[in-house]
Amino acid sequence: MIFNNKVSHFVPPVPECKTPIRVLSLFDGISTGLYVLRKLKFLVDAYYASEVEDDAIRVSKFNFGDKIIQIGDITKLNKDYLESLLPIDLIIGGSPCTDLSKVNPARKGLLDFTGTGILFFDFYRILKEIQILQPDHHVFWLFENVASMDISSRSIISRFFNMPPVILNAKYISPQERQRFFWGNIPNLQKIADVLKHSNLSSSLNDHLTSNLNRVAAVRKLRTVTANRNSLKQGPTREDPILMDGEGDVPWVTELESIFGFKSHYTDVGDLSICRRQRLIGKSWSVPVVESIFKPLLEYFSNELDSEKN
Ligand code: SAH
Repeated sequence: MIFNNKVSHFVPPVPECKTPIRVLSLFDGISTGLYVLRKLKFLVDAYYASEVEDDAIRVSKFNFGDKIIQIGDITKLNKDYLESLLPIDLIIGGSPCTDLSKVNPARKGLLDFTGTGILFFDFYRILKEIQILQPDHHVFWLFENVASMDISSRSIISRFFNMPPVILNAKYISPQERQRFFWGNIPNLQKIADVLKHSNLSSSLNDHLTSNLNRVAAVRKLRTVTANRNSLKQGPTREDPILMDGEGDVPWVTELESIFGFKSHYTDVGDLSICRRQRLIGKSWSVPVVESIFKPLLEYFSNELDSEKN
């Protein structure tokens, strides 16, 4: 439903009859969206993924095979093509953050045509296009990016979406500091953030370390893990966050998968190196955070929990 030519914030009533969800995932990365939907036991009718990086696509294919339909570069998705994907129930995506994040001193910002920040506008374009193409079919949407973006980028994005971001930090439900902005019309987004903040679910780093090898956490929470290997060291003094037999160490890649909420070896495809696997994981969403966000959608779409109840 479209009001005043603005992005819809409308939350529809819970339907009497649920259908399997149809998803358009933009900047799909390693398909964390589908991983979470399946973890929550949604029945997924279609999952279209726009992604351009070979490693990421390979991880997605390895884990989900032909359940994911790869649709390529977001900038090439035009109206006619989008029309062929309808109906769409959920649009999700976190555009590349390299040119927005404060940790990158050479960042190009949101508006530089030569950077990746500008890809935000493709998310917005597609969201609007889908809302116009299916005026009688509601679409839920969620856009994510780093909380360390400068205030003008945040204001521009908020202006386009006509809402301020909701801030969610993975540290409340996982052992990693990962503060992110979310915009969207998923029911109760702000409430979810508030509940997480006060949750006692906080898991400790020790819970994610390989057992039997005398690996012990030296910090309570990891600092934000990025695509960069250096982010595994902690703080300006670059301390090791783990001790193994008393010696300093950084999280192994299978431990990182677990810290982000993935099953072990999720990114272990072919001969992908540790660095390349970390690059994918460091860019991805935190599974438990997105799980909390998607949970309210169980009321709207078919899932295995319903069939188990019947
Ligand atoms: N949320 C994802 C990661 C997003 S990072 C996850 O959980 O894994 C941003 C992603 O956008 C990267 O994987 C990058 O390869 C992808 N990307 C960059 N340019 C793109 C383009 N033109 N079209 C589609 N995806 C693109």
